[in-house]
Amino acid sequence: MKTCARCKVLKEIVGFSKNPQQKDGYHVYCKECVSKYHKKYYTEHREELIERERQRRATDPEKHKQYHRDYRINFPERIRNSRLLKAYGITVEEWEKLFELQERKCAICKTTDPGIKGWDTDHKHGTKIVRGILCTSCNNGLGRFKDNIEYLQTAVEYLLRNKQNEVVVASNEESSSRNYVRARPERHAELGQGNGHSNYVSGACMGK
Ligand SMILES: [Zn+2]
Ligand SMILES: [Zn+2]
Repeated sequence: MKTCARCKVLKEIVGFSKNPQQKDGYHVYCKECVSKYHKKYYTEHREELIERERQRRATDPEKHKQYHRDYRINFPERIRNSRLLKAYGITVEEWEKLFELQERKCAICKTTDPGIKGWDTDHKHGTKIVRGILCTSCNNGLGRFKDNIEYLQTAVEYLLRNKQNEVVVASNEESSSRNYVRARPERHAELGQGNGHSNYVSGACMGK
């Protein structure tokens, strides 16, 4: 625990950034106060800062590029934090808290392997509202269904219907010619007309 020298609030040590120059190894101001200070400073000196950055880029473009490269390597957490803030309005800490609530698994399929692109921060389309953390596959899945609950529900019904259908056909038929029919549901209805299991087959296919 440590008391912030600015807001005077006693906080857990995780509320302070590391600072090797301090005796206890942590900043005298809490993260919140530092962040507020930076925001205020940036707003008040915006034009000036942009101009300075432009000049640095113009005077020595190579050095400038290297500076940003080094920054990305040395402060990956800061980069991640500002990306999350910009895209979803949340900090790394908030992201981690949310992921912890999901037991560090995909919120839908529960995998612990997000895929090569890493975890996706799923948000409500066109907003910064974060819904959860998903694996690439589940996030793509939602996108392909246009985030439409009705489509997704219909997809579930569709799968259930076909599962039932499979069970019915499998239990009633032994011949391999029927497997061919099972794989092509649009043929079911036609073929179903004339044979004994028309009720099952066409019923399942037509979604009654
Ligand atoms: Zn403070
Ligand atoms: Zn998933």
